[in-house]
Amino acid sequence: MNESKNFLRTIVEEDLKSGKYKEIVTRFPPEPNGFPHIGHAKSIFINFGIAKDYNGHCNLRMDDTNPTKEDTKYVEALKDAVEWLGYEWDKSVRFTSDYFPQIHDYAIQLIKMGKAYVDSLSEEEIREYRGTVTEAGKRSKYAQRSVEENLDLFERMKKGEFKEGEHILRAKIDMSAANMKMRDPLMYRIRHVEHFRTGDEWAVYPMYDFAHCLSDYIEGVTHSICTLEFENNRDIYNWVLDTLELTPPRPYQHEFARLGINYTVMSKRKLLELVEGGQVSGWDDPRLPTIAGYRRKGYTPESIITFCDSVGIAKANSMVDVAQLEFCIRDDLNTKVPRVMCVLDPIKVTIENYEGSESIDASYYPEDVPKEGIRALPFSREIYIERDDFNENPPKGYFRLTPEQPVRLKHAYIISCKEVIKDTNGKTVEIIAEYSPASKSGSDTSGIKVKSAIQWVSAAEAKEVEVRLYDRLFSVEAPQGVEDINPDSLKIIKNALIEPAVISERPDERFQFERQGYFYADPVDYTTQKPVFNKIVGLKDSYSKKKKATPVKTQEKKVQIDGEVVAMSEKQQVLFDKYTSELKLNSEVANTLARDENLSSFYEQTLVELNSPVNLANIVTNEVAREIKETSVDTLKFTAKQIAELVKMIDDKTISNKIAKQVFEEMAKSGENPEKIVEAKGLVQISDPAKISPIIDEIIAKNPDNVAKFKAGNKKLLGFFVGQVLKATGGKANPQVVNKLVAEKLK
Ligand code: ATP
Ligand code: MG
Repeated sequence: MNESKNFLRTIVEEDLKSGKYKEIVTRFPPEPNGFPHIGHAKSIFINFGIAKDYNGHCNLRMDDTNPTKEDTKYVEALKDAVEWLGYEWDKSVRFTSDYFPQIHDYAIQLIKMGKAYVDSLSEEEIREYRGTVTEAGKRSKYAQRSVEENLDLFERMKKGEFKEGEHILRAKIDMSAANMKMRDPLMYRIRHVEHFRTGDEWAVYPMYDFAHCLSDYIEGVTHSICTLEFENNRDIYNWVLDTLELTPPRPYQHEFARLGINYTVMSKRKLLELVEGGQVSGWDDPRLPTIAGYRRKGYTPESIITFCDSVGIAKANSMVDVAQLEFCIRDDLNTKVPRVMCVLDPIKVTIENYEGSESIDASYYPEDVPKEGIRALPFSREIYIERDDFNENPPKGYFRLTPEQPVRLKHAYIISCKEVIKDTNGKTVEIIAEYSPASKSGSDTSGIKVKSAIQWVSAAEAKEVEVRLYDRLFSVEAPQGVEDINPDSLKIIKNALIEPAVISERPDERFQFERQGYFYADPVDYTTQKPVFNKIVGLKDSYSKKKKATPVKTQEKKVQIDGEVVAMSEKQQVLFDKYTSELKLNSEVANTLARDENLSSFYEQTLVELNSPVNLANIVTNEVAREIKETSVDTLKFTAKQIAELVKMIDDKTISNKIAKQVFEEMAKSGENPEKIVEAKGLVQISDPAKISPIIDEIIAKNPDNVAKFKAGNKKLLGFFVGQVLKATGGKANPQVVNKLVAEKLK
């Protein structure tokens, strides 16, 4: 990992090569005024990552120059975060406050050099005197003070003789500098507050611009990496170090773009508001973008690091789609965690013809996860399934249990619905089912076809658990404040039912609940008596469909099939990539092909015959696939070559897509060549306008009402006329030609 090259690494490499530095020293310098967030993770990843990869070291430094907001609890949170992400800081944690005496000495030195002065203007005057971007500033009359007077005043400031704001120490640089930051920047201010480490030892505190560069220098930092908003501060950084004529090596500042993520706020100030306002349960609320929040939710450090790496390091700020982070955790857990069954919204199923009970050995891991482990699944007459997995009035494409459609109980038997029991309100309370004894998973001889397998738990042995389902904290992409909070960001299910091994064996902390998503045993509230699981992430991105595709570096490769999400093997992924990128198939078609060896090999054979990947894929994934499912590859009546011939006729417009299906049905039955079928049945597409025109005229004559409505503005009726013409020609008329002619005639 970490080896992706970026401009910062290029700089580091050049500096090592030129001998500018012998060792690379970086630092992560947070202000301990809040919990670190995912943006800090990026900074940690960059600073610690670079130090590690170039055999240098990275310091963890608390930038504690603002005593009003800082606290040791934040210091602990920062240490935790760095450690959890897998990094080690050099020696002990450092504090800018440890350097207060040295920084103070440097200030004295600048005063003596005539490069700093005590100003006594009010805050407002200072602002006024600074000028504007287009107007030079005006220097304060106090800049005339002698070195002695400045030394005396500064000493008395330090001792606490003055009120806050009465005096301030400024660098004497240039009041007309184009960079406004260089207009005599503030170096020290008076603060009568307890510092959490130095107590009331100091009444003056250095400003960031003065303390940061000097702390870097004191620590021997070589590359001071910070975010873009400090770009204009770089001139001060250099001015301080240059003016003091410090002995080399000295650090240089380099800026990179901040990480921003949609659907959340990121700054510590805004996060603090949410914590203090009670919108969340604390800094580690799983809905917050804090490292503690992700950790509590169940994210792994690896997934966060992969994410930081995948977003890259740029010089321009940008917003990263949170889906990219979700992809990283899903991808990480996919290869690691046990698969278990949990029913979130249970409905009872009584299997009438089942007697007694049994124990089914089921692997915790799917075949493509290189891990082993088996648990016993108790099975009995009374089970629970997900309420959602049964539907009395199923929509089209519903693959689970219905009164007519059997379903497989994952790892167990196929059941079918016999009776639905309802309460007085018409709500289904129980399903009476029957199982097929010959259908046991792994030794199924029942011959029953099902379209999906669903999760279930045995009623007697299942354990009750609390499940916390987290959604995005904000409902808009760029939230402004509490008004944008998603009211449904947390849903607590008090009595979900889980298979017993999860609790008794506790094979892991993180699980995939089959078909539900990834879950984590809450590190704080979980007890064996009252287990609590947090939802880490769903099995697929449920948001991206609604939005335009976002530039995500790595492509999601897990797709849902028959209600189940399974990862692709390496071989399948290679095919999938080839189909989508080379052959330009849409991902659904590519997915269907890649996952089915029979289909993909058939498809490859058709490609040898004809270079028409998209149309071939269409016929193969629809028609050929259905035929294979109904019979088998070995008994197909048609060959790949014949399918290619069929598609060629579509390509040359000899037949329409619709007719092609008709021809295919005939091929599947008789094995006849498609040209023969088309010829024999007179199915050749009619594209000649002279032949189509009279048919259209006839239809127009027969439907005066609709013609009038069309002319009055009901343009939808165009479809009616086209449909009538196609019907009249038995589907042989070329739809494009018909469309054009109808439109012309009705004008
Ligand atoms: P916030 O605005 O969230 O309070 P900050 O910049 O004040 O953040 P610091 O504690 O001063 O936070 O930052 C420590 C380091 O982390 C700095 O070097 C800063 O540049 C970096 N950092 C802070 N936020 C981000 C971010 N969103 N992306 C990348 N780096 C960040
Ligand atoms: Mg800050």
